[in-house]
Amino acid sequence: SSRMAASNSAMGKGLLGAFSGGGKLDESVWEEVEDILLGADLGVEATTELVDNLKKRVKTEGSASPEQLEMWLHEELLKLVDPTMDRRIAASRVGDRPAVVMVVGVNGTGKTTTVGKLARVLVAEDKEVLLGAADTFRAAAADQLETWGARVGVATVRSEKEGADPAAVAFDAVKAGKDEEVDVVIIDTAGRLHNKVGLMDELSKVKRVIEKQSPIDECLLVLDATTGQNGMRQAQVFAQAVNITGVVLTKLDGTAKGGIVVLVQRELGVPVKLVGLGEGADDLAPFDPKAFVDAVLD
Ligand code: GDP
Repeated sequence: SSRMAASNSAMGKGLLGAFSGGGKLDESVWEEVEDILLGADLGVEATTELVDNLKKRVKTEGSASPEQLEMWLHEELLKLVDPTMDRRIAASRVGDRPAVVMVVGVNGTGKTTTVGKLARVLVAEDKEVLLGAADTFRAAAADQLETWGARVGVATVRSEKEGADPAAVAFDAVKAGKDEEVDVVIIDTAGRLHNKVGLMDELSKVKRVIEKQSPIDECLLVLDATTGQNGMRQAQVFAQAVNITGVVLTKLDGTAKGGIVVLVQRELGVPVKLVGLGEGADDLAPFDPKAFVDAVLD
């Protein structure tokens, strides 16, 4: 079909070139496939598994045309990304209380920006949103969150004191959200990774103290796609401190291919739910497995 032809020309020139025009489906083709996947940050383990699965399919069929191989590559990658995972954000009132969304991640990954964008999405769904600035380490962090809040039309609970107890601010934000009967409270947190133990203690305390007020419905880990496989090590640190329910992969508007999606989902057992596609208020989108696969193989 023309769609197939279009995707063939868009993707895998190397792959097709490696064994079209009289070439054979030999080791050079598999190397090409590996290069594509590793180049997209899929990591060695997932790449090996995918190539093994492809080889099995070729063996079962006896042979494969370049077009068939490309189609199978798409199918196998989609399987690894797992389109069956539930990627919805829990951001609706639960009984008589607001939904509570906690957002964690290393500084600079785009956490505060993501909170702002997410608030914007929820406001557009006619939800009443309240923000909590639980990164009290830097006064600028609360200012930045408040600025985002003002931009998308929602209030921010914060402390004026630099170095105030982050858990206390989170507690106050959730309490205010309950008193004001909002739909969702989003808590922004600190992410100074160089002080790993301190950070984990702080986050687990924020979590515990929030839970005195309300269960946490969603705990989103923000990862910067441009940090590639390093993002995975960061993810593990946060997963030890809080119960991650989903990942937001930011900065996918750059050159990053975001293959870390597969690794993160496997290691944490939670889906990538949202992707950041720029610095603007509207640059947040649901993660779309099929579009992702197309982008990786493009
Ligand atoms: P935080 O320290 O994790 O709260 O990170 P910030 O929200 O302050 O974001 C750090 C920088 O990354 C800022 O310059 C943001 O504008 C930028 N940023 C955040 N998300 C994205 C994204 O999806 N794409 C791009 N290109 N930049 C982003």
